Amino acid sequence: MTFQFFLGTGFREQEVMFCSWKNADFKGKVVAVRSKPELGFRPKDKEERSVPVPDSLIAALANRKKESTSMFIFAGPDGKPNGHFLRVLQKLALRAGLNCGECITKQGKSCATQAMCREWGLHKFRKTFATMHSEAGVPPSTIQKWLGHSDLATTLRYLATADLRSERTRQQVNATFSGLKIEGAA
Ligand SMILES: [Zn+2]
Repeated sequence: MTFQFFLGTGFREQEVMFCSWKNADFKGKVVAVRSKPELGFRPKDKEERSVPVPDSLIAALANRKKESTSMFIFAGPDGKPNGHFLRVLQKLALRAGLNCGECITKQGKSCATQAMCREWGLHKFRKTFATMHSEAGVPPSTIQKWLGHSDLATTLRYLATADLRSERTRQQVNATFSGLKIEGAA
């Protein structure tokens, strides 16, 4: 559920850490990033924002709230902001057999057997959030607001990488070579 929240909101790690129940609007189905200076959390002006989230995520949050004893949506075991999201994600990826198997540390440890695959970072959910909204037709200027980017160029850089793999690009590339018979393809 934590990582579904990362995906559904596109929030940065700190923004998830400091997201409190007060920031979730169950009726309007939006989750807000708000500064909490008393806790040392200060996003920049542009980064304070509200992000609409899918009905399914709002429903899951409502259920989670019933069990929660902390002001934070994803608190650590002590009720304080949770700083272990990356470690948890990397353990899950290893257990699920989803590591790439090609990352090696200077000490010679491999992601084939260790929870340390670089393919599994928290930022990837943010990029996927942007890509999925873009492919569903949300305009880049709207995605920019949801991501809390101060300039559109940053958002467009996010989307450019994703566009390489989009269905639209696929159709264009196949159309370009539609007359070419590739040996060994059939
Ligand atoms: Zn890896």
